[in-house]
Amino acid sequence: MVNEDRMRHTFEDLVKIDAPSKGEREVCDYLKKKLRALGAAKITEDNNGSVNGGNSGNLIAVFNANTEGLPSIALTAHMDCVENCRGIEPVLEDGVYRSKGDTVLGGDDKAGVAAILEGLALMKETYIPHGKVTVIFTVQEEIGLCGSSSIEEKYISGIDFGYTLDGDGAAGSAYTAGPSEYTLDFTCKGIAAHAGMAPEKGTNAIAMAGLGISLCPTGRIDDETTCNIGLIEGGTAVNIVPDRCVVHCEARSRNDEKLEALVAKMEAALKEAAAKFPEGSLEIKKEKTYDSFCIKDTDPALQLFRAACAEAGYRVTAGPSGGGSDANWFGTKGFPSLLVGVGMTDFHTNRESLKVKDLYEAGDLVYHIIEAESHFAGH
Ligand SMILES: [Zn+2]
Repeated sequence: MVNEDRMRHTFEDLVKIDAPSKGEREVCDYLKKKLRALGAAKITEDNNGSVNGGNSGNLIAVFNANTEGLPSIALTAHMDCVENCRGIEPVLEDGVYRSKGDTVLGGDDKAGVAAILEGLALMKETYIPHGKVTVIFTVQEEIGLCGSSSIEEKYISGIDFGYTLDGDGAAGSAYTAGPSEYTLDFTCKGIAAHAGMAPEKGTNAIAMAGLGISLCPTGRIDDETTCNIGLIEGGTAVNIVPDRCVVHCEARSRNDEKLEALVAKMEAALKEAAAKFPEGSLEIKKEKTYDSFCIKDTDPALQLFRAACAEAGYRVTAGPSGGGSDANWFGTKGFPSLLVGVGMTDFHTNRESLKVKDLYEAGDLVYHIIEAESHFAGH
């Protein structure tokens, strides 16, 4: 069913276009042309680019329903790639795509984008009955889900549920839940002094931070809660008592009560350390980056997915994820979206790979999701 040549060409075209976060202009223009050719009734680029300082907005395309009474679904993927993603040259060998080794492959998330385009092409060619389909290609996913977090209500109102094609695992894998996340920046402030002549006049901000870190929980807290001290910066020279050290952390949980408790513990740890340095001070900046999402077994998004996989012959594996994706924000903003696997492996590294079979099956699955809508008349 899938046009394999077409899918390979589309995927290769897509990864060859440089699309770092905030630099999605060229890929956005490429996709506009594709969506027009596929018969989108309306194609809009929102103002997200100017909001977040990028050169492209989110791209939203509407395909009108050709049959009444079918659900209004969304198909989403992100246009940007994690660095290092400039000058990607895809190499297909023994059925597996890889980069030449000096960049990521960009299957995250061009596999998702290509799967959606193929599903739409098959929808057009086979004249199947379908409800309204809204395609959302977001920007700046990799730098904090910025595109999905600032998409305006008017573009997504009326969508019953959706599929975010941005997961690992082959066709049939889906993530039904993802955590909420906080990011925390602890700025330890001390007093600078000459390290050799007058260390007693100084207050060492790095020492304060180090003590705080030693008291702070980190790693896997339990099966749904994690925490990471990911980056520290501080000091100016070995002969100066440092007056500033910033500790950047994150905390995630699919259970919001546990998350609040963990964040409180982290703050308490740094405060306890700061108290040992009476001349110093501590500044805490915390931000809820995104909210958790959860799709129940009875939700139509998952039921339709199961129906599509049964029809196409893919085994369903559905479970929770520890990562954040655009699905988190779509859930917060009004429509539940299932995070669907498109086969990407070792993503965010130069070893990233994608089996071409997984790519074809992801396209086939998108088509079957649209096709299965007609079993859902009346929902
Ligand atoms: Zn992704």
